[in-house]
Amino acid sequence: MSTPNHRIRLIMELRRAGVVDTRVLSAVERTPREIFCLPQFRDRAYEDTALPIAHDQTLSQPTVVALMTQALEVQPRQKVLEVGTGSGYQAAILSLLCRRLYTIERHRPLLVDAEERFKTLRLNNVVTRHGDGWAGWTEQAPFDRIMVTAAPDAVPQSLIEQLAVGGIMVVPVGREARSQELLRVRRTETGHEIDNLAAVRFVPLVHGIPMDDEALSAGQARKSRA
Ligand code: SAH
Repeated sequence: MSTPNHRIRLIMELRRAGVVDTRVLSAVERTPREIFCLPQFRDRAYEDTALPIAHDQTLSQPTVVALMTQALEVQPRQKVLEVGTGSGYQAAILSLLCRRLYTIERHRPLLVDAEERFKTLRLNNVVTRHGDGWAGWTEQAPFDRIMVTAAPDAVPQSLIEQLAVGGIMVVPVGREARSQELLRVRRTETGHEIDNLAAVRFVPLVHGIPMDDEALSAGQARKSRA
């Protein structure tokens, strides 16, 4: 359910959790989370909990989305990459804070649904790609900011390379869901610096794209060449 009261209560919870950046709070307030939920979870859209979406993936907890967004320190003129579109909720929030938001997802059906939501919300500065986020998006690099919303076992070197000098990446790292750390990586002139922000729990950043989707992509490519 979405009443002004539900949204205000959520904003109060975010403030309590340490979200103080008013641009981030306002982006969360302006984003209707219920449209990113599966129908059977819509009445829980404004609870501060992660919710299941298709393909065993999750729509992240609002507090985690907001704290990660705040840690990314996004500026209005920046080019931002998100890895792991999922429902598109985090992408929608980031898109309100930056110039252009690029987002990559390995499950094509999830991406198709997220694209539909971006259209409904008229988020015209979101650019999507079906692919493996481990490789980043070389054609569009460098990015001022990168947010990874699935956990690799180590910070992917390709993503560090696609960060502009002075750029920031926020990424949950750890093989086991029980022992992941949220890291903030800052690219410097000579290398990079890493801060440890919090303990978190994300689905793994998987290598490659699902077999079915690969067959579909190949089929479509053949069709368009014919
Ligand atoms: N940001 C999402 C939550 C993401 S859950 C939201 O706001 O709803 C993590 C997502 O990362 C899942 O959709 C999963 O399919 C995707 N993912 C996992 N490994 C990936 C990879 N290598 N490349 C792209 N996406 C990946």
